[in-house]
Amino acid sequence: MSDRNTCPTCGLRFNSTAAFAKHRVGDFSKSEKPRPYGPVRRCMTVAEMEERGMSISSAGYWITAAYERFKESA
Ligand SMILES: [Zn+2]
Repeated sequence: MSDRNTCPTCGLRFNSTAAFAKHRVGDFSKSEKPRPYGPVRRCMTVAEMEERGMSISSAGYWITAAYERFKESA
């Protein structure tokens, strides 16, 4: 089973929908509260993803966290 996907916005590849969702930031609600990532939905930069513990698998796909590497070895 695989739900690998490529982001149409930044072109990076992700090992799972969860990893893909994690790299999309910004508030798209109508909340008026302060928004940590600004008002616009966007992709995190590589530096931001690494800051949040994401990394690239040996196959070249972004993963949400290092522990997912175990799935890669199967
Ligand atoms: Zn993206």
